[in-house]
Amino acid sequence: MHGETIYYQPAIETMSREEIEKLQVKRLKETITQATKSPFYRAEYSKIGVDASTITSINDIRKLPFTTKADLRDSYPFGLVVDGMKDKVVRLHSSSGTTGHPTVICHSQHDLDQWAMRVARSLYMVGVRETDVFQNSSGYGMFTGGLGFQYGAEKLGALTVPAAAGNTPRQIKFIQDFDTTVIHAIPSYTSRLYEGFVEMGIDVKKETNLKILLIGAEPHTDEQRKKIEANFGAKAYNSFGLSEMSGPGVAFECTYQDGLHIWEDCYIVEIVNPETLEPVADGEIGELVLTTLDRDAMPIIRYRTRDLTRFIVGDCACGRTHRRIDRVKGRSDDMFIVKGVNIFPMQIEKVLMEFEQIGTNYLITIANVGSNDEIKIEVELNTMFTDDYSKLEKLGKEITRKLRDEILITPKVLLVGKNSLPQQDGKAVRVSDLRDK
Ligand code: AMP
Ligand code: ZN
Repeated sequence: MHGETIYYQPAIETMSREEIEKLQVKRLKETITQATKSPFYRAEYSKIGVDASTITSINDIRKLPFTTKADLRDSYPFGLVVDGMKDKVVRLHSSSGTTGHPTVICHSQHDLDQWAMRVARSLYMVGVRETDVFQNSSGYGMFTGGLGFQYGAEKLGALTVPAAAGNTPRQIKFIQDFDTTVIHAIPSYTSRLYEGFVEMGIDVKKETNLKILLIGAEPHTDEQRKKIEANFGAKAYNSFGLSEMSGPGVAFECTYQDGLHIWEDCYIVEIVNPETLEPVADGEIGELVLTTLDRDAMPIIRYRTRDLTRFIVGDCACGRTHRRIDRVKGRSDDMFIVKGVNIFPMQIEKVLMEFEQIGTNYLITIANVGSNDEIKIEVELNTMFTDDYSKLEKLGKEITRKLRDEILITPKVLLVGKNSLPQQDGKAVRVSDLRDK
């Protein structure tokens, strides 16, 4: 497929670095002019005396302050909407926070069109064409993975099946009846879907036309991706996005599956040390900071995503020049410290995915037990596994041993039945920290 027409927008996808930076500087200046018409940025920027004229080169972005999730919450609901644009807003998306107000992102028709274009470009990059049948198994409504993919796939011209979340037998019926070739699913749902096929006695590899899975919205390891690819006999591509930056279509893997191209005509990408807030060296892990370059209702400048990743150094074999980021390792606020050891959920997932008896869902609970912190890991078994008690005990011990080697602490491992672990807003919950703060 790396033949003649691999790019959706060849001129944009293969721009030289100089061209990208020139465009970014131009768009950044326009974005600042637009953003300072909102109550939030007007107040923030006039306080420190910055405006569009502050920017003469791309590095000047560092003279601007960061925007945080707390800023969005404090300006709830419309404090970042540009004056005069409120009547032009045609949709808002809101994501629920665990504390305080949710965040709200407002879009004009122009913003939605640009978003759809980015998703279409991303889909095309992994080989989706108008001849494909695209089924979306993520929640519609406020979750951006629903409508975001819907409009992008329509723009591309695929036949779309807006199945929405849940009802696995119905998803499977649609996949078979409509000859679905591409499905978007969050990683934790793919295991439920696969189990559904097994339970219904359908060989997903032979009795469906599925060839591409788009998986994203949640951190997942390469091991989990490989497991999904092996189960479905299809390629699984990592899709990254966040509501604050519109939603899916921010960064996407190409067919080389070596990092995610982040669309630099639409975003300025920085990776900073979360403590010093200085840029990290290329290839080092830090916090992703993003600036929108083409939003007119609610531009956001230097947004601290809390997501940890790194730039992949070097050129991609696909010929696209937009830089690549590594799969997101987790959020800086997901990391937990137990007995002085820093632990990321993805380290634990990496180990769990080595076991074929394990599904893809697990929950890590940290609690005070006496004066000690303890880690409990509940792991869902996959249905195909035995309920032979001695085998389960052996498996539990083996998992515990491997986890101890990875995180240097002995966790308590509990094997639980499928579908028994909680979800929040459709996404898997990975960590529950019950310790006294
Ligand atoms: P939301 O805006 O509520 O859909 O959540 C966005 C967040 O989900 C991001 O900031 C990331 O933490 C996470 N996320 C989205 N896509 C991915 C992905 N492909 N890999 C890892 N984390 C992701
Ligand atoms: Zn590439």
